[in-house]
Amino acid sequence: MITVTRPRILVVGAGFAGVGCVRRLERRLSPDEAEITLVTPSSYQLYLPLLPQVASGVLTPQSIAVSLRRSRRYRTRIIPGGAIGVDLAAKVCVVRTITDRTVNEPYDYIVLAPGSVTRTFDIPGLTDNAFGMKTLAEAAYLRDHVISQLDLADASQDPDERAARLQFVVVGGGYAGTETAACLQMLTHNAVKRYPRLDPRLIKWHLIDIAPRLMPELGEKLGSDAQKILGRRGIEISLGVSIAKAGPEEVTFTDGRVVPTRTLIWTAGVVASPLIGTLGAETVRGRLAVNAEMNLPGHDGVFALGDAAAVPDVAKDEEGAVCPPTAQHAMRQGKVVADNVIAALREQPLRPYKHKDLGLVVDLGGRDAVSKPIGIELKGLPAMAVARGYHWSALRTNVAKTRVMTNWLLNAVAGDDFVRTGFQSRSPAKLKDSEFVHAYLTPEQLRAQVGAAAEGDG
Ligand SMILES: Cc1cc2nc3c(=O)[nH]c(=O)nc-3n(C[C@H](O)[C@H](O)[C@H](O)COP(=O)(O)OP(=O)(O)OC[C@H]3O[C@@H](n4cnc5c(N)ncnc54)[C@H](O)[C@@H]3O)c2cc1C
Repeated sequence: MITVTRPRILVVGAGFAGVGCVRRLERRLSPDEAEITLVTPSSYQLYLPLLPQVASGVLTPQSIAVSLRRSRRYRTRIIPGGAIGVDLAAKVCVVRTITDRTVNEPYDYIVLAPGSVTRTFDIPGLTDNAFGMKTLAEAAYLRDHVISQLDLADASQDPDERAARLQFVVVGGGYAGTETAACLQMLTHNAVKRYPRLDPRLIKWHLIDIAPRLMPELGEKLGSDAQKILGRRGIEISLGVSIAKAGPEEVTFTDGRVVPTRTLIWTAGVVASPLIGTLGAETVRGRLAVNAEMNLPGHDGVFALGDAAAVPDVAKDEEGAVCPPTAQHAMRQGKVVADNVIAALREQPLRPYKHKDLGLVVDLGGRDAVSKPIGIELKGLPAMAVARGYHWSALRTNVAKTRVMTNWLLNAVAGDDFVRTGFQSRSPAKLKDSEFVHAYLTPEQLRAQVGAAAEGDG
């Protein structure tokens, strides 16, 4: 009997890029043309741009965790785990499953879309004391943590402790940090009304960034409009400043200020997933250097995209320009990469990725927002409508759309109850606990893992 094996397509990561690719492959390939496998630690695609709204309680965590299995054409085999190394020569991806088993997954075509992790620097105490804002668990934890600071400050008889618990520091003036600071400040501003013993004037939010401007991607005018809106709401913005050291009860700024606080939120950019480093291939500031077809030069079956890859931005005239790490690019690249995998499989020519940036939308909580869709500068309610309309239409399933819309309506009508779930209260959730950046294999470990399996087969 002759067994015909189908080509194996392995997609790593179920974010905007990976899911965009898998859905297109399912739609455009017949089941007997190829076997599609997806490696992902979670069973959902996280709609990251709405994460600050989960932290601030406007949305429930489930509303932005879009199911991977709710799709009419769903047929992909999903391996619950994370890729911890890729051996390009042997065409093997090493996966650690969620039960901590290490398995070798051979492939014919691999699509690398593991996204990014929070960028940290060698600042004393940072990873032990700062919270991140990149995963659903971090957002849910942060919400609980902020509400618990109000609870503890309310109960405390010590004025110093009370003041420290009511100070919050967010590092990172990009859109992620600015939205996080704005949405959480709105949370404490609204919640404090339920704490009649607390003086609202004691609540202080600091937003700091080493750059000279907030959200430079938005341009000078909108960046300064956002700064004014936040300033009016009492958020103290310090530019040209970072942190020198972080402790459990205080943070030292690089300008010498020491801020007593129990809440340091670190959102100072992202770097490509450490998985990319295990390939031993060329990178551009940590992102895998691919061509405009998102193919790794010299490796026909290897593709990479999204935050993990430096995809040339051919829509820009600048030489060496690469697409910024945004969902807008990642989801569109996912579709083109799927078409290119199919083209490679059918021995047809690949097509380059080209997309002209549609601009940015920034939700600052309540009715505050700034946005620049297709170059038009907006603020206030029109900006809010564009921001919410854009995110709503980009959600992949109708169920997710309904959940998000229902949450928005409910929040607008009934507000928030500021309830602390307590699920996370005794488990650590600082940067070092949340992103598993040390799980990846060194080149020697990778060789040993793939070599041992090959010997076992021989
Ligand atoms: C708070 C916040 C707000 C944002 N707001 C916006 C916005 O308004 N507009 C916008 O365009 N962009 C925004 N972004 C950026 C945007 O979310 C990212 O650029 C986008 O998610 C990148 O898509 P991706 O598929 O490359 O990575 P991701 O969406 O991060 O997906 C990566 C996936 O890979 C999985 N993974 C990670 N490591 C492994 C591994 N080793 N093995 C297997 N799977 C792995 C992860 O669990 C995840 O599911 C925001 C980001 C944040 C954090």
